[in-house]
Amino acid sequence: MIIFVRYAELALKLGNRAVFEQKLEKNIKAAMAGLRFKTSRHYGHMMLEVSEKDSEGVAGKLANIPGISNFSIVSEILKFKYPKSPTEKWAIAKLTEIAKIMALEIISPGEKKYWPKTFCVRSKRIQKSFPMDSPKIEAKLGEMILRGIPKLKVKLKNPEITCHADLVDNKAYIYFDKIAGLGGLPVGTSGKIVSLISSGIDSPVASFRMTLRGAQVVFVHFHSYPHTNKASQDNVREIVKLLTQYQLESRLYFVPFLEIQKAVMTNAEPELRVVLYRRFMMKIAEEIAVHEGAGALVTGENLGQVASQTLDNIAVINEAVAMPILRPLIGHSKQEIIDEARKIGTYEISIRPYADCCSLFVPKHPTTRADLAVIKKVEKKAVFKKLIKEAIKKAEIENAVLS
Ligand code: ATP
Ligand code: MG
Repeated sequence: MIIFVRYAELALKLGNRAVFEQKLEKNIKAAMAGLRFKTSRHYGHMMLEVSEKDSEGVAGKLANIPGISNFSIVSEILKFKYPKSPTEKWAIAKLTEIAKIMALEIISPGEKKYWPKTFCVRSKRIQKSFPMDSPKIEAKLGEMILRGIPKLKVKLKNPEITCHADLVDNKAYIYFDKIAGLGGLPVGTSGKIVSLISSGIDSPVASFRMTLRGAQVVFVHFHSYPHTNKASQDNVREIVKLLTQYQLESRLYFVPFLEIQKAVMTNAEPELRVVLYRRFMMKIAEEIAVHEGAGALVTGENLGQVASQTLDNIAVINEAVAMPILRPLIGHSKQEIIDEARKIGTYEISIRPYADCCSLFVPKHPTTRADLAVIKKVEKKAVFKKLIKEAIKKAEIENAVLS
């Protein structure tokens, strides 16, 4: 099986293009480990030659790799013997062969289970000695197909089927339609990032967004075990496993947070708790990020969604660390986030009932305008320095790989 894989935003990255291509190739190889296939660069896209025995499931794997805009499974390859000076008559004979294959595909319901009523032909002529240019090839093929199936209509925008013929070297590659990829950038081209992941709806989506932007995401989850059961950890583990489909390998830190929460309870006014929890989470995540060689933190925060997510509180939370805190969902509506969570498959896990560490010891009315000076005074207490150290020391690390 031959597949043409087209790069998403790589074309824009002129200077770095080679690096991006290599990363994508490496990621494809890792995603398809165990299968027999070859990759090569082929007139502007990547060509995969997969052994027939291993071709099942390949499309599903490619659809999960960031950096691919779309791909096509080549239906047929015709080999031409070019005469010294190819004539138009010779070209028409070759196009007739191609048109027959296209017409056959159009009238065979196959997996489509319907007969398309509209079509268009697209061609790329890389082999310049073919004596017609691409627009002429497209027009001729269209004409031939219409002669065979007169009911069909040409539609250039959004036809039900697009028939492609690319003429390269002495071959014609024939394929139909393009299968959408994830888009974005190949994982690893934007460095590493630490994601604070709860088992809620938002942070898995925020993490996925960063994966799509080419970042390798390391996950950190804070839990209140044994005060809560292990459901949130189990859910996070499952979410990370799902997200690993897109980034191939993941590391997940489980950080015990209960002692810090208890100390916050005894040392601060109830209304300050949430902001204090969040600042301690950031401080711990930042230490992990430094250890991991990551350059930023990411959260699922969303402006105005809950009390800790007001502009004032976000400013106070940012002040806790030097590292940038990225909030890819800051301007999204809840419905948009839910729709995306459904699409990537994390929603069903996130809505399971669980006891979140942050729902513990939270007052009815947390402050929406935390006073930084007051917060800092609480944090100065020696107990916190010790507890942060301990929490990091007791963190459990798990690695997930694509399975
Ligand atoms: P989510 O749906 O991601 O849980 P949320 O809408 O419930 O978010 P908050 O509870 O205020 O909002 O959490 C804000 C962000 O803080 C989360 O998106 C996540 O990045 C981080 N966070 C919250 N709880 C935890 C946790 N237990 N472990 C790690 N990060 C957390
Ligand atoms: Mg939450």
